[in-house]
Amino acid sequence: MYAREIEEKLTELGIKVGDKIKVSKEEKYYEGILMPRSFYNPDVLVIKLANGYNIGIEWKNIVKIEKVEEEKKKVARVERKEEIQEKHEKTISILSTGGTIASKVDYRTGGVRPAMTAQDLFEAIPELREIANIEPRTIMQVYSESMNFEHYEKMAKEVFNEIKKGVDGIVIAHGTDTMHYSSAALSFAVQNLGIPVVFVGAQRSSDRGSSDAAVNLISSCLFASQSELAGVFICMHESMSDYACAVHLGTRARKLHASRRDAFKSVNAKPVARVLWREKKIEYLCKDCVNLRDKNKESELFANFEKKVALIKLHPGFNPEIIDFLIEKSYKGIVLEGTGLGHAPEYVMHAIRNACEHAIVCMTSQCIFGRVNLNVYYTGRDLLKAGVIPCEMLPEVAFIKLAWALGNFSEEEVKEIMRKNVAGEIVERILYGE
Ligand code: ASP
Repeated sequence: MYAREIEEKLTELGIKVGDKIKVSKEEKYYEGILMPRSFYNPDVLVIKLANGYNIGIEWKNIVKIEKVEEEKKKVARVERKEEIQEKHEKTISILSTGGTIASKVDYRTGGVRPAMTAQDLFEAIPELREIANIEPRTIMQVYSESMNFEHYEKMAKEVFNEIKKGVDGIVIAHGTDTMHYSSAALSFAVQNLGIPVVFVGAQRSSDRGSSDAAVNLISSCLFASQSELAGVFICMHESMSDYACAVHLGTRARKLHASRRDAFKSVNAKPVARVLWREKKIEYLCKDCVNLRDKNKESELFANFEKKVALIKLHPGFNPEIIDFLIEKSYKGIVLEGTGLGHAPEYVMHAIRNACEHAIVCMTSQCIFGRVNLNVYYTGRDLLKAGVIPCEMLPEVAFIKLAWALGNFSEEEVKEIMRKNVAGEIVERILYGE
């Protein structure tokens, strides 16, 4: 409910949530759909503009308010599940895990907190009802920087259960900081996937007028329900504009900007698709990079992750004792982020050789773009001789893959798996950034 004075005025004018209204401030006016009140301020009128943005206007600044049009379809704000079920051909689930997308301002600390449920998100964006039958469910409420392998195990099991229920797609609302780790984890944990599983987040919390949550969620739900592709994806703003969202393969994307809406980019690859959410259209950019949707596929779950795995960045002045320490602590896997083509300082060689005797050691490149090649310099060849496995994939993906492989397979199998393309993670041909 809005503040009493506002509710009284709205009733007097016959305006309800969902109606199109025109609100005039001193010189400006705004037209849009009246939304339910924001979580934190009952004195601010929230309207959804034609561009999908919600804006808040302080009641005291409003000079005039008029009804332009009745709510189009009589969709009750809280529909019963059976009604939702019957409406569309496709059914998808939204699993909420927390992050900025599920956050609102917490007035105790002044910071945002992941306190919104999947149902809250669903109810705040009426357009979602027009896309598919949607079943929102909160499975955890954490920021993604605080996630660990247990969260991946839980997410994978939840996704697997949804697949068994027969849904046509799954959207996972998630924090953006480590979304690419989670998307990699799910890409490996659920094998033979026949539907799209789409990670989505927001750079501004959902209770802010400038939030990108609505556009991202609408786009990801469109992709999850209508795409011809199957696999694990990330769907976020394609550029700074609200025009479209890009869909990236879950093992090929990375958060490359701390705050921009288009923070996620495909690395050494093209995005697989673009969602033009206003037109409800999907443009495929790399259809043959991924598998096609096939609901009859029997998915398999490999949800274990080995916890004693480390991701280490090599740098000038790197202390080899760090590697010795991991081996002393019985770490089973180490992913090195080498310099350039995958190089390590020569004085670290001894520690790496020793590590290879006790653990699986993989080499990636901190360059992000380009390839790993241990054959160019003699130092790289020494690494190969010591048993280091070159991994042509993002360091984060190699880290997750190694933890997953060690969690589910024998040591010999792990060595093979790390060299094999399991979920589109291996760069076979550089498309961008040579
Ligand atoms: N720190 C937040 C998280 O990753 C940031 C976000 O959601 O965008 O959960």
